[in-house]
Amino acid sequence: MVKRSSLKRKSILVLAIYLAFFITAVGGVSYLVVEPPIREQLTRNLDSRSKIISSEIEASLESPLGILQGIVSIGNSGKDANLQAEILQHLFAMSDGASVSGGLWPLPYVDDSTTHYASLFFNRAKDGVVDRIHSWNNPALGGYDGEGWYTDVENKPLGTVVWSPVYIDAFTHVQMITASSPYYVDGQFAGVATVDLSLESLIEYVQKHAKEHGLGVLIRDGQGEVVIEHNFKVAEDIYISEHKFGHFDWTIDVVNANRLVADQAYDLVTKVEMGIMPIMLLCVLFGYFVINRSLIDPIAHIAREVDDSKQGGIIDINYRSDDEIKHLINAFNQKTVFLEQEKKNALASTRAKSAFLATISHEIRTPMNGVLGTAQILLKTDLSDEQRKHLKTLYDSGDHMMVLLNEILDFSKIEQGHLELEKEPFPLESIIGSINSVYHTLSVEKGLSFKISSDVSKQRWYLSDKARLRQILFNLLNNAVKFTLKGSIEVNFTEVTLDGKNYLNIIVTDSGVGIDNAALEKIFKPFVQAESSTTRRFGGTGLGLAIVKQIAQLMHGDISVQSKLGQGTTFDVLLEMEVSQPLQAEGRKHKKLSYTGLRVLIVEDNRTNTAIINTFMSGKGFECYCVGDGEEAVQAVRANEFDLIMMDNHMPHKDGITATQEIRALQSDRSNILIFGCTADLFKETQERMLSAGVDCIVSKPIDEQELDDMLYRYSDKLYQFKSLDDCQAAASFNAEQQLVSLYIAVEDRNHEQAYEILSNIFTYLAPTDHRSVKELLAPLIQSKSLPSQQELDVLTVLLKDV
Ligand code: ADP
Repeated sequence: MVKRSSLKRKSILVLAIYLAFFITAVGGVSYLVVEPPIREQLTRNLDSRSKIISSEIEASLESPLGILQGIVSIGNSGKDANLQAEILQHLFAMSDGASVSGGLWPLPYVDDSTTHYASLFFNRAKDGVVDRIHSWNNPALGGYDGEGWYTDVENKPLGTVVWSPVYIDAFTHVQMITASSPYYVDGQFAGVATVDLSLESLIEYVQKHAKEHGLGVLIRDGQGEVVIEHNFKVAEDIYISEHKFGHFDWTIDVVNANRLVADQAYDLVTKVEMGIMPIMLLCVLFGYFVINRSLIDPIAHIAREVDDSKQGGIIDINYRSDDEIKHLINAFNQKTVFLEQEKKNALASTRAKSAFLATISHEIRTPMNGVLGTAQILLKTDLSDEQRKHLKTLYDSGDHMMVLLNEILDFSKIEQGHLELEKEPFPLESIIGSINSVYHTLSVEKGLSFKISSDVSKQRWYLSDKARLRQILFNLLNNAVKFTLKGSIEVNFTEVTLDGKNYLNIIVTDSGVGIDNAALEKIFKPFVQAESSTTRRFGGTGLGLAIVKQIAQLMHGDISVQSKLGQGTTFDVLLEMEVSQPLQAEGRKHKKLSYTGLRVLIVEDNRTNTAIINTFMSGKGFECYCVGDGEEAVQAVRANEFDLIMMDNHMPHKDGITATQEIRALQSDRSNILIFGCTADLFKETQERMLSAGVDCIVSKPIDEQELDDMLYRYSDKLYQFKSLDDCQAAASFNAEQQLVSLYIAVEDRNHEQAYEILSNIFTYLAPTDHRSVKELLAPLIQSKSLPSQQELDVLTVLLKDV
């Protein structure tokens, strides 16, 4: 059974898509929801950070201003420079923090008309030691009164404070900034006081703070010069917190150095999703479990059951819920039960129909043999033209009816599956010979050319059903002759090997009326003819091709057709054929035994058949005794001794089966008599019933000489149980009936020469007698050297009996 898992796969796929969709949706929505507050908070954070940093810077710069004011006060006091220097040194020694240097820068020559520059500039080293630096007082170096920090506050009102740009100190090599303010003595501008701040610790603080909070910081002074820069990178869509602070107009820009708002929002969303993912996964698994249990499993189960119940049977699963699936199961089961019942009915009616057809055709066939035989006999007598015309119509109609019956019987047998193929060795040449003799004559009579070609070796023998192969060819050739008004008919035989098996390919081509495309598809169906007028024009039942197709299929082959209206038709048949070794002719000869003096009881209700069997058996030398039913047969066996009984089945009063049973039940040697069941019934059941009633074997009607010989040989022990073979051989003598039997064989074998010889013998044998009908029948046959037809044989048999 095909394992189906598509539903499971589909549901897993759908749930996975659902999960992915859900996670994307949750992610998207969360992002949209959380991004604005995150952005707002980040903005607030950055603003407050920039304020914290700027106020820290402001505070750091505030305290040096106190020192500056102190220095201005020292300058304002106008005290002795030495005293001022002492106070300043003291002031710087005490101060800590960022103020590292500073002092008083008097107006040149303000104290002393000889001294150009008399600055009191002190520097506090890292170890806290305060030194006075005199280098600025060297006029050769240009002095200090031209420096920006001096000129910016020169003659400016008292209390003015000006901050210098950031610069790198020449001594300490650190970033510095200087605040300067003027001082006055006695209301006159007397110089400038300065304090220098080291930005080192400020930078350290800013860097540490920025690092701690992942910030990028940029601080610029009032002139826009960069004072401090730490990790300050500006990206697109980034928020910059900008803040101006202090008296000195510095600006601070703070950004988030590590991540954008989007990154943060993304982090948050990821966190949310990571949190809900396991829950979702569990939900999906649970959902799958539920769907699987309630939907997929029952459906898969139903599918399996449907697979198993293709040949019938209901779906038997334990499904409790009262839903659509339950409804589906119930509906399927109801339908199955209904269809099974219908199938039974159909089978029963087909069987009944076939049985009826078989019985009716069998029953009609038997009297029809008599009708046709009698018509033939009458046709040979002196009749007026009118009488002959009516009798001919009677014969033709009867003949047509026989063909119809035979085909119906054959078809119903095949339809019921009763047709079993025989397997006997035969040469292909014998088939070619027989179709040649029949259809050559028929074609020539109709003015058509007939040609057989064969690529198969002349020595080729097959192990197959010769009769059925001949039936296929006869049906196709009958049609070819029937539907061809001028031109030719050709048959070709070839062998092909397909999948290691041997096939015989037969192609029958005619130049006849052809079949139109619409009808081509239907002609292999029973009772179908290419057009409704066919029966009127050509006769036929529409069964021939259906039978051919069925037989071809039974022989593991097939048939196809190609045709063009008005141009002709080609049938292509392929049949699997087992190749056989040719049989030795001697092997068959030794089966001929002598039967002279043996007594045979022919049990047959039909007079024509009785006559035929009688002719056969007397031809072989048997003494024939005939009875008309089973009752008489049993009485005859009780009263007389016989060596063989030829037992028909369908008979009035008592049938063959019952009679056989009664004979076998006799309390004497006679119960062991050899009985051949002779039946025209082609159905296997009848044959089997006869065999189980006690007949030794079945000889089917019409009797085949070869088959009869074979059976007599095979059962010779039983045949000679009452009389020995030697006695029979001694009693053997020639008679005319034996000639008749030989004639049957010659006709069967299509042996024109032998038939001519026998017919001549019979004619000579009858010469002295006054049997006009027989002579009239024989003369044209001998003259034309043609084979007698079946009807002529029947008539000859009946007439010879009288003789
Ligand atoms: P039947 O010959 O008894 O009518 P068949 O089954 O043998 O039935 O053929 C069915 C139909 O196929 C025929 O009636 C005829 O219309 C068509 N047919 C068969 N063989 C030929 C052929 N060789 N040429 C033209 N038509 C044909």
